[in-house]
Amino acid sequence: MNEDVLGQHYTEVPGQRVVAAALRAAYAWSVRDVHRNAAMLEIARMTGVVMEVHGPGLGPVAPVELVEHLRAPLGHLLAGVRGQPAELADVVLLDEDGRLTENAYDLVCEHVIPLKDVAGERSWLPTWTTMHSDQIRQRVFTAMITSTKQDEYVGSRKFLIEHPAGGEQELVELRDRAGGIRLAKGGYRDIPEEQIYRASDGRGWWWPCLDCKWPMAVTSVGKVRCRYRPHNAVFDLVPGNRPSLRRRDGARRPAPPAGQAAEGAKCVDAGVWRFVVVPGASELRIAASAERAGAKVSLWPFLDRFDLLVAAGGEKFAVDVKECLSLSALIGRLRTRPPSARILLPKSCEWQLETLEDALPGLAVVTETKFLGQIRSAVRKAR
Ligand SMILES: [Zn+2]
Repeated sequence: MNEDVLGQHYTEVPGQRVVAAALRAAYAWSVRDVHRNAAMLEIARMTGVVMEVHGPGLGPVAPVELVEHLRAPLGHLLAGVRGQPAELADVVLLDEDGRLTENAYDLVCEHVIPLKDVAGERSWLPTWTTMHSDQIRQRVFTAMITSTKQDEYVGSRKFLIEHPAGGEQELVELRDRAGGIRLAKGGYRDIPEEQIYRASDGRGWWWPCLDCKWPMAVTSVGKVRCRYRPHNAVFDLVPGNRPSLRRRDGARRPAPPAGQAAEGAKCVDAGVWRFVVVPGASELRIAASAERAGAKVSLWPFLDRFDLLVAAGGEKFAVDVKECLSLSALIGRLRTRPPSARILLPKSCEWQLETLEDALPGLAVVTETKFLGQIRSAVRKAR
Protein backbone atom coordinates (compact mmCIF):
# COMPACT_ATOMS: atom_id res chain seq x y z
CA MET A 1 0.00 0.00 0.00
CA ASN A 2 1.12 3.51 -0.77
CA GLU A 3 -0.26 6.82 0.33
CA ASP A 4 -0.74 9.51 -2.28
CA VAL A 5 -0.82 13.27 -1.78
CA LEU A 6 -4.50 13.17 -0.92
CA GLY A 7 -3.77 10.86 1.98
CA GLN A 8 -5.63 8.09 0.22
CA HIS A 9 -4.32 4.59 -0.07
CA TYR A 10 -3.93 2.63 -3.22
CA THR A 11 -2.36 -0.69 -3.99
CA GLU A 12 0.14 -0.94 -6.80
CA VAL A 13 -1.06 -3.61 -9.18
CA PRO A 14 1.71 -5.36 -11.20
CA GLY A 15 -0.03 -4.55 -14.51
CA GLN A 16 -0.08 -0.85 -13.63
CA ARG A 17 3.62 -0.94 -12.77
CA VAL A 18 4.45 -2.38 -16.17
CA VAL A 19 2.29 0.19 -17.99
CA ALA A 20 3.82 3.09 -16.03
CA ALA A 21 7.36 1.81 -16.63
CA ALA A 22 6.65 1.25 -20.34
CA LEU A 23 5.35 4.79 -20.81
CA ARG A 24 8.35 6.29 -19.01
CA ALA A 25 10.74 4.23 -21.10
CA ALA A 26 8.89 5.18 -24.30
CA TYR A 27 9.01 8.87 -23.40
CA ALA A 28 12.73 8.59 -22.60
CA TRP A 29 13.36 6.88 -25.94
CA SER A 30 11.46 9.64 -27.79
CA VAL A 31 13.75 12.34 -26.31
CA ARG A 32 17.04 10.42 -26.29
CA ASP A 33 18.58 12.91 -28.75
CA VAL A 34 18.11 15.73 -26.25
CA HIS A 35 18.66 13.95 -22.92
CA ARG A 36 21.16 11.35 -24.01
CA ASN A 37 22.61 9.79 -20.84
CA ALA A 38 19.64 10.49 -18.62
CA ALA A 39 17.26 8.93 -21.15
CA MET A 40 19.30 5.76 -21.58
CA LEU A 41 19.66 5.42 -17.82
CA GLU A 42 15.91 5.80 -17.40
CA ILE A 43 15.25 3.07 -19.99
CA ALA A 44 17.64 0.78 -18.10
CA ARG A 45 15.85 1.54 -14.83
CA MET A 46 12.45 0.84 -16.36
CA THR A 47 13.75 -2.43 -17.79
CA GLY A 48 14.58 -3.34 -14.20
CA VAL A 49 11.02 -2.56 -13.09
CA VAL A 50 9.52 -4.69 -15.86
CA MET A 51 11.96 -7.57 -15.21
CA GLU A 52 11.12 -7.55 -11.52
CA VAL A 53 7.38 -7.82 -12.26
CA HIS A 54 7.85 -10.64 -14.76
CA GLY A 55 10.29 -12.62 -12.66
CA PRO A 56 13.45 -14.41 -13.78
CA GLY A 57 13.60 -15.67 -17.36
CA LEU A 58 10.35 -14.02 -18.44
CA GLY A 59 9.84 -10.75 -20.32
CA PRO A 60 12.56 -8.41 -21.67
CA VAL A 61 15.97 -8.69 -19.99
CA ALA A 62 17.80 -5.79 -21.66
CA PRO A 63 16.92 -2.16 -22.48
CA VAL A 64 17.11 -2.80 -26.22
CA GLU A 65 14.61 -5.63 -25.82
CA LEU A 66 12.25 -3.39 -23.86
CA VAL A 67 12.38 -0.75 -26.62
CA GLU A 68 11.45 -3.44 -29.17
CA HIS A 69 8.39 -4.24 -27.03
CA LEU A 70 7.39 -0.58 -26.98
CA ARG A 71 6.99 -0.68 -30.77
CA ALA A 72 4.55 -3.62 -30.49
CA PRO A 73 1.09 -3.87 -28.87
CA LEU A 74 1.38 -3.62 -25.08
CA GLY A 75 -0.45 -6.95 -24.75
CA HIS A 76 2.85 -8.75 -25.38
CA LEU A 77 4.67 -6.93 -22.61
CA LEU A 78 1.72 -7.48 -20.27
CA ALA A 79 1.28 -11.20 -21.02
CA GLY A 80 0.98 -13.17 -17.80
CA VAL A 81 1.02 -10.06 -15.60
CA ARG A 82 -1.71 -9.73 -12.99
CA GLY A 83 -4.05 -6.76 -13.17
CA GLN A 84 -3.34 -5.66 -16.73
CA PRO A 85 -5.80 -3.17 -18.23
CA ALA A 86 -7.45 -5.09 -21.08
CA GLU A 87 -8.12 -1.89 -23.04
CA LEU A 88 -4.37 -1.37 -23.51
CA ALA A 89 -3.66 -4.78 -25.07
CA ASP A 90 -3.64 -3.41 -28.64
CA VAL A 91 -2.05 -0.06 -27.82
CA VAL A 92 1.41 0.70 -29.21
CA LEU A 93 3.58 3.33 -27.50
CA LEU A 94 6.26 4.15 -30.11
CA ASP A 95 5.77 4.70 -33.84
CA GLU A 96 8.30 3.71 -36.55
CA ASP A 97 10.12 7.03 -36.12
CA GLY A 98 10.57 6.43 -32.39
CA ARG A 99 8.02 9.07 -31.40
CA LEU A 100 5.23 8.63 -28.89
CA THR A 101 1.93 7.63 -30.46
CA GLU A 102 -1.31 9.52 -29.96
CA ASN A 103 -2.54 6.72 -27.70
CA ALA A 104 0.38 7.35 -25.36
CA TYR A 105 -0.65 10.97 -24.94
CA ASP A 106 -4.38 10.67 -24.53
CA LEU A 107 -5.08 7.18 -23.16
CA VAL A 108 -2.05 5.53 -21.58
CA CYS A 109 -1.34 8.66 -19.49
CA GLU A 110 -4.56 7.94 -17.56
CA HIS A 111 -2.96 4.71 -16.28
CA VAL A 112 0.19 6.28 -14.86
CA ILE A 113 1.02 5.55 -11.23
CA PRO A 114 4.09 6.87 -9.42
CA LEU A 115 6.81 4.24 -9.16
CA LYS A 116 7.91 4.76 -5.58
CA ASP A 117 11.10 2.71 -5.60
CA VAL A 118 12.54 4.57 -8.61
CA ALA A 119 11.74 8.04 -7.31
CA GLY A 120 14.24 10.88 -7.49
CA GLU A 121 14.56 14.24 -9.17
CA ARG A 122 14.32 13.92 -12.93
CA SER A 123 13.07 17.28 -14.10
CA TRP A 124 13.28 16.34 -17.78
CA LEU A 125 10.56 13.72 -17.29
CA PRO A 126 7.16 15.43 -17.60
CA THR A 127 4.68 15.01 -14.75
CA TRP A 128 2.21 13.09 -16.88
CA THR A 129 4.70 10.22 -17.20
CA THR A 130 5.53 9.98 -13.50
CA MET A 131 2.51 11.11 -11.50
CA HIS A 132 -1.06 9.96 -11.03
CA SER A 133 -3.61 12.35 -12.56
CA ASP A 134 -5.03 13.12 -9.09
CA GLN A 135 -1.57 14.15 -7.89
CA ILE A 136 -1.15 16.53 -10.82
CA ARG A 137 -4.54 18.10 -10.16
CA GLN A 138 -3.84 18.36 -6.46
CA ARG A 139 -0.54 20.12 -7.07
CA VAL A 140 -2.20 22.71 -9.28
CA PHE A 141 -5.14 23.33 -6.97
CA THR A 142 -3.07 23.62 -3.79
CA ALA A 143 -1.78 27.01 -4.93
CA MET A 144 -5.33 28.19 -5.56
CA ILE A 145 -6.86 26.91 -2.35
CA THR A 146 -4.42 28.69 0.00
CA SER A 147 -6.80 31.64 0.23
CA THR A 148 -9.87 29.43 0.89
CA LYS A 149 -11.91 32.14 -0.80
CA GLN A 150 -14.33 30.49 -3.19
CA ASP A 151 -14.34 33.35 -5.72
CA GLU A 152 -10.52 33.41 -5.90
CA TYR A 153 -10.44 29.67 -6.32
CA VAL A 154 -13.00 29.77 -9.14
CA GLY A 155 -11.33 32.78 -10.81
CA SER A 156 -7.89 31.14 -10.73
CA ARG A 157 -9.05 27.77 -12.02
CA LYS A 158 -11.09 29.41 -14.77
CA PHE A 159 -8.12 31.55 -15.77
CA LEU A 160 -5.89 28.50 -16.17
CA ILE A 161 -8.49 26.69 -18.28
CA GLU A 162 -9.20 29.70 -20.49
CA HIS A 163 -5.54 30.70 -20.92
CA PRO A 164 -3.42 27.53 -21.10
CA ALA A 165 -1.03 29.26 -23.54
CA GLY A 166 -0.13 32.71 -24.83
CA GLY A 167 2.54 35.38 -25.03
CA GLU A 168 4.28 35.78 -21.68
CA GLN A 169 3.50 39.50 -21.51
CA GLU A 170 -0.08 38.94 -22.65
CA LEU A 171 -0.63 36.34 -19.91
CA VAL A 172 0.70 38.69 -17.24
CA GLU A 173 -1.58 41.49 -18.42
CA LEU A 174 -4.62 39.22 -18.52
CA ARG A 175 -3.84 37.96 -15.03
CA ASP A 176 -3.43 41.46 -13.62
CA ARG A 177 -6.66 42.58 -15.23
CA ALA A 178 -8.58 39.60 -13.82
CA GLY A 179 -7.17 40.19 -10.29
CA GLY A 180 -7.07 37.71 -7.40
CA ILE A 181 -5.51 34.97 -9.53
CA ARG A 182 -3.45 32.42 -7.62
CA LEU A 183 -1.39 30.02 -9.67
CA ALA A 184 1.49 27.71 -8.81
CA LYS A 185 4.91 29.25 -9.42
CA GLY A 186 6.51 28.18 -12.68
CA GLY A 187 3.14 27.05 -13.96
CA TYR A 188 3.83 28.23 -17.51
CA ARG A 189 6.84 27.08 -19.50
CA ASP A 190 8.26 27.26 -23.03
CA ILE A 191 6.17 25.57 -25.70
CA PRO A 192 7.76 22.17 -26.50
CA GLU A 193 9.49 22.04 -29.90
CA GLU A 194 7.17 19.33 -31.22
CA GLN A 195 4.29 21.79 -30.90
CA ILE A 196 6.07 24.45 -32.94
CA TYR A 197 6.58 24.86 -36.68
CA ARG A 198 9.93 26.37 -37.64
CA ALA A 199 9.78 28.43 -40.83
CA SER A 200 12.85 28.62 -43.10
CA ASP A 201 13.70 32.01 -41.57
CA GLY A 202 14.02 30.25 -38.19
CA ARG A 203 10.94 31.85 -36.64
CA GLY A 204 8.62 29.54 -34.75
CA TRP A 205 4.81 29.40 -34.94
CA TRP A 206 2.16 27.65 -32.87
CA TRP A 207 -1.59 27.17 -33.14
CA PRO A 208 -4.12 26.93 -30.28
CA CYS A 209 -6.66 24.08 -30.42
CA LEU A 210 -10.14 25.48 -31.02
CA ASP A 211 -11.50 23.48 -28.06
CA CYS A 212 -8.80 23.68 -25.37
CA LYS A 213 -6.55 26.54 -26.67
CA TRP A 214 -3.36 24.58 -25.89
CA PRO A 215 -0.67 24.44 -28.63
CA MET A 216 -1.49 21.68 -31.09
CA ALA A 217 1.15 19.08 -32.05
CA VAL A 218 2.96 19.67 -35.34
CA THR A 219 3.76 16.31 -36.96
CA SER A 220 6.55 15.59 -39.40
CA VAL A 221 4.03 14.88 -42.17
CA GLY A 222 2.67 18.42 -42.15
CA LYS A 223 -0.32 17.72 -39.96
CA VAL A 224 -1.31 19.92 -37.02
CA ARG A 225 -3.62 18.39 -34.43
CA CYS A 226 -4.67 18.58 -30.80
CA ARG A 227 -3.12 15.78 -28.77
CA TYR A 228 -6.48 15.05 -27.21
CA ARG A 229 -8.14 13.27 -30.10
CA PRO A 230 -11.79 13.87 -29.11
CA HIS A 231 -11.09 17.54 -29.84
CA ASN A 232 -11.20 16.45 -33.39
CA ALA A 233 -8.93 19.17 -34.65
CA VAL A 234 -6.74 18.02 -37.54
CA PHE A 235 -5.36 20.53 -40.01
CA ASP A 236 -2.93 20.57 -42.92
CA LEU A 237 -0.02 22.91 -42.53
CA VAL A 238 0.53 25.36 -45.37
CA PRO A 239 4.25 26.10 -44.90
CA GLY A 240 6.08 29.37 -45.52
CA ASN A 241 7.36 32.33 -43.57
CA ARG A 242 3.73 33.12 -42.63
CA PRO A 243 2.47 29.54 -42.26
CA SER A 244 -1.24 28.86 -42.01
CA LEU A 245 -3.61 25.93 -41.49
CA ARG A 246 -6.19 24.40 -43.80
CA ARG A 247 -9.05 22.22 -42.67
CA ARG A 248 -8.73 18.63 -43.84
CA ASP A 249 -12.44 18.20 -44.55
CA GLY A 250 -12.60 21.31 -46.75
CA ALA A 251 -15.36 22.88 -44.61
CA ARG A 252 -15.11 26.61 -43.93
CA ARG A 253 -16.43 26.72 -40.39
CA PRO A 254 -15.16 26.83 -37.82
CA ALA A 255 -12.18 28.55 -39.42
CA PRO A 256 -8.73 27.21 -38.47
CA PRO A 257 -6.93 29.17 -35.74
CA ALA A 258 -4.37 31.81 -36.75
CA GLY A 259 -0.68 31.12 -36.18
CA GLN A 260 0.99 32.79 -33.19
CA ALA A 261 4.65 33.67 -32.78
CA ALA A 262 6.45 31.11 -30.63
CA GLU A 263 9.02 33.59 -29.40
CA GLY A 264 8.10 34.66 -25.88
CA ALA A 265 5.10 32.30 -25.83
CA LYS A 266 4.41 30.01 -22.88
CA CYS A 267 2.02 27.18 -22.12
CA VAL A 268 1.04 25.07 -19.14
CA ASP A 269 2.76 21.72 -18.62
CA ALA A 270 1.30 18.76 -20.51
CA GLY A 271 0.06 17.11 -17.31
CA VAL A 272 -1.80 20.24 -16.25
CA TRP A 273 -3.26 20.57 -19.74
CA ARG A 274 -4.39 16.95 -19.90
CA PHE A 275 -5.86 16.68 -16.39
CA VAL A 276 -7.01 20.23 -15.61
CA VAL A 277 -7.46 22.14 -18.88
CA VAL A 278 -9.03 19.38 -21.04
CA PRO A 279 -11.74 18.42 -18.50
CA GLY A 280 -12.05 22.11 -17.55
CA ALA A 281 -12.89 23.07 -21.14
CA SER A 282 -15.82 20.61 -21.00
CA GLU A 283 -16.91 21.89 -17.58
CA LEU A 284 -16.99 25.48 -18.85
CA ARG A 285 -18.77 24.46 -22.07
CA ILE A 286 -21.51 22.63 -20.11
CA ALA A 287 -21.83 25.56 -17.67
CA ALA A 288 -22.19 28.01 -20.56
CA SER A 289 -24.88 25.85 -22.23
CA ALA A 290 -26.83 25.64 -18.96
CA GLU A 291 -26.61 29.41 -18.51
CA ARG A 292 -27.80 29.99 -22.07
CA ALA A 293 -30.80 27.81 -21.24
CA GLY A 294 -31.64 30.20 -18.38
CA ALA A 295 -30.06 28.35 -15.42
CA LYS A 296 -27.72 29.71 -12.76
CA VAL A 297 -24.43 27.84 -12.45
CA SER A 298 -21.89 27.68 -9.60
CA LEU A 299 -18.52 26.27 -10.64
CA TRP A 300 -16.60 23.91 -8.33
CA PRO A 301 -18.72 24.84 -5.27
CA PHE A 302 -17.48 24.41 -1.67
CA LEU A 303 -13.87 24.50 -2.91
CA ASP A 304 -14.37 21.74 -5.42
CA ARG A 305 -16.56 19.24 -3.60
CA PHE A 306 -17.99 18.57 -7.08
CA ASP A 307 -17.88 20.37 -10.44
CA LEU A 308 -21.18 22.11 -11.19
CA LEU A 309 -24.18 23.17 -9.13
CA VAL A 310 -26.97 24.19 -11.51
CA ALA A 311 -30.12 25.95 -10.34
CA ALA A 312 -32.80 25.64 -13.02
CA GLY A 313 -36.39 26.69 -12.35
CA GLY A 314 -37.07 25.53 -8.80
CA GLU A 315 -34.67 22.58 -9.02
CA LYS A 316 -31.01 22.09 -8.17
CA PHE A 317 -28.66 19.71 -9.97
CA ALA A 318 -25.19 18.73 -8.71
CA VAL A 319 -22.84 16.98 -11.13
CA ASP A 320 -19.24 15.83 -11.33
CA VAL A 321 -17.89 15.90 -14.89
CA LYS A 322 -15.69 12.89 -15.69
CA GLU A 323 -13.59 13.31 -18.81
CA CYS A 324 -11.65 10.08 -18.72
CA LEU A 325 -10.88 8.25 -21.97
CA SER A 326 -9.93 5.10 -20.08
CA LEU A 327 -13.08 3.43 -18.92
CA SER A 328 -11.21 0.97 -16.69
CA ALA A 329 -9.30 3.80 -14.97
CA LEU A 330 -12.59 5.63 -14.42
CA ILE A 331 -14.34 2.59 -12.97
CA GLY A 332 -11.36 1.90 -10.70
CA ARG A 333 -11.38 5.47 -9.42
CA LEU A 334 -15.16 5.54 -8.80
CA ARG A 335 -14.88 2.27 -6.90
CA THR A 336 -12.21 3.50 -4.52
CA ARG A 337 -13.65 6.98 -4.16
CA PRO A 338 -17.44 7.20 -4.52
CA PRO A 339 -18.46 10.55 -6.08
CA SER A 340 -20.23 13.24 -4.07
CA ALA A 341 -22.56 14.15 -6.95
CA ARG A 342 -24.15 12.60 -10.04
CA ILE A 343 -21.53 11.67 -12.66
CA LEU A 344 -21.80 13.57 -15.94
CA LEU A 345 -20.19 12.10 -19.04
CA PRO A 346 -19.24 14.91 -21.43
CA LYS A 347 -19.85 14.53 -25.19
CA SER A 348 -16.48 12.85 -25.83
CA CYS A 349 -17.30 10.17 -23.23
CA GLU A 350 -21.03 9.59 -23.71
CA TRP A 351 -20.26 6.20 -25.28
CA GLN A 352 -19.17 4.97 -21.83
CA LEU A 353 -22.67 5.21 -20.29
CA GLU A 354 -23.86 1.62 -20.69
CA THR A 355 -20.62 -0.07 -19.60
CA LEU A 356 -20.32 2.26 -16.62
CA GLU A 357 -23.88 1.53 -15.49
CA ASP A 358 -23.26 -2.20 -15.87
CA ALA A 359 -20.00 -2.07 -13.91
CA LEU A 360 -21.33 0.10 -11.10
CA PRO A 361 -25.03 -0.55 -10.57
CA GLY A 362 -26.56 2.13 -8.39
CA LEU A 363 -24.19 4.82 -9.64
CA ALA A 364 -26.07 7.99 -10.65
CA VAL A 365 -24.78 8.93 -14.09
CA VAL A 366 -26.02 11.13 -16.92
CA THR A 367 -24.70 12.23 -20.32
CA GLU A 368 -24.08 15.86 -21.28
CA THR A 369 -26.88 15.72 -23.87
CA LYS A 370 -29.43 14.30 -21.45
CA PHE A 371 -28.36 16.61 -18.63
CA LEU A 372 -28.81 19.76 -20.71
CA GLY A 373 -32.25 18.41 -21.74
CA GLN A 374 -33.18 18.11 -18.04
CA ILE A 375 -32.00 21.67 -17.38
CA ARG A 376 -34.04 23.09 -20.26
CA SER A 377 -37.14 21.25 -19.15
CA ALA A 378 -36.72 22.44 -15.52
CA VAL A 379 -36.42 26.04 -16.75
CA ARG A 380 -39.51 25.62 -18.98
CA LYS A 381 -41.58 24.12 -16.16
CA ALA A 382 -40.91 27.13 -13.94
CA ARG A 383 -42.04 29.64 -16.55
ZN1 LIG B 1 -7.64 20.50 -27.75
